[in-house]
Amino acid sequence: MRASFLSYLFSCLLALLLFSTGLTAQDKLTIVSSASMFSDMASNLITDDFEIKTIVPIGGDPHKYRAKPSDARMVQTADLVLVNGLTFEGWIRELIANSGTKAKVITLTEGIEPISSMEYENSSDPHAWMNVSHARQYIKNIYEALIALKPDQSKALQEKYETYRQELTKLDQDIQNEINKIPENQRILITSHDAFQYYGQRYGLHLEAIMGISTEAEAQTSDIMRVSKAIKKNKVPAIFIESTINPKMLQQIAKDNKVEIGGELYADSLGDADSEGASYTKMMWHNTKTIADALSKAPAQEEKEEAKELPSLTDGLSNPMKIIIGIVLLLTVLTVIVSKIKRS
Ligand SMILES: [Zn+2]
Repeated sequence: MRASFLSYLFSCLLALLLFSTGLTAQDKLTIVSSASMFSDMASNLITDDFEIKTIVPIGGDPHKYRAKPSDARMVQTADLVLVNGLTFEGWIRELIANSGTKAKVITLTEGIEPISSMEYENSSDPHAWMNVSHARQYIKNIYEALIALKPDQSKALQEKYETYRQELTKLDQDIQNEINKIPENQRILITSHDAFQYYGQRYGLHLEAIMGISTEAEAQTSDIMRVSKAIKKNKVPAIFIESTINPKMLQQIAKDNKVEIGGELYADSLGDADSEGASYTKMMWHNTKTIADALSKAPAQEEKEEAKELPSLTDGLSNPMKIIIGIVLLLTVLTVIVSKIKRS
C-alpha cells in the first residue's frame, strides 16, 4: 500500500515536472528565415510559441552568402523555412535538400507579379519586398503558414496579422507622400546594385544602378560610363551607397561627377539593432527619408558645368600672352584693311 502510494506520488511529481517545463525553447516551433528583413516580418506575426532564427547575419550579402554546416543543422531542426525565391538566395535550395529537413518551406514572393530582369533573359528581379504593397503579400504568406502550424492560436495570430498589415498599409502611403515631395525631374535614384526597381516602380522613381540585380556580377566600365552619363544628363544631386555593398566604386563615381553621396540605404539586410534600419518598417522609412532629402536639394554645380561646356580658344593662356595675340590679330586686320584701301 505504502509502496503504491509512493509510486503514485512519484508519478505526480514527474508529471508536474514535465508540465512545468512544457514550453521550453525545445518545444517552441522554430522558424528559419534566409535574411533579416523576413525574420523581422515574421517576428511581428508570431506568438510566444514560436522562435525565429536567421541564416544570413545582419550586414551580410544574401546574393553571395556561403552556407555553413551550422546552417544545415539550423534548417534540419526547423518547423518552417522562409525563402524569398526568384534566385535571391541561389544557395538555399541545396542547403534545404542537403539538410534533410521535414520543415515546410514557404516562398515569400508567391502571389507577387515579379519584375523581369532587364539584364538577364528569363530571370526575375528578387527584391520584391522593396515595394511595401508586396510586403503585405509576404506577411500574408507567413501568416497562413503560422496558422497551418498552430491552428489553435488562429485568433491571436489573426490579431497580430491585422495590426501589422495596417502598419504596412500606412507605411506604403507615407512613403508615397514623401517621394511626392521631390521635384519631379529629380526623381532619379542611383545606387550600387539594382535592388530598387520595385521601389521605383511603386513610388515613381527612375532607376540607374551600377551593378545588375545580383551583387555577384562585376561592374563593367560601360556600366560606370552609363551611370556617369545619367548623372550629367539629369543633373542628379546625389547618389546612394548600400549597407551590404563595398561603397568604393560609388564614392569614386560621386567624386568624378562632383555629386554628393546622399546616404546609406538598406536593401538586402536590416541594419544593426541600434541603427535606423533595425526593422523592416524602419529600414524602408530610413531609405525614403534619405532619398527624399538628398534628391530634393538643388542640383549642384549646374551653372559651372554649363560654363565649362563652352571652352574659349584662349583657355589655358596667361594674360600677357592673350594681350600679345590680341595685338597681332589687330595688326593683321589693320594691314588687310590698309592694303584694300590702297588697291581701291
Ligand atoms: Zn540585392
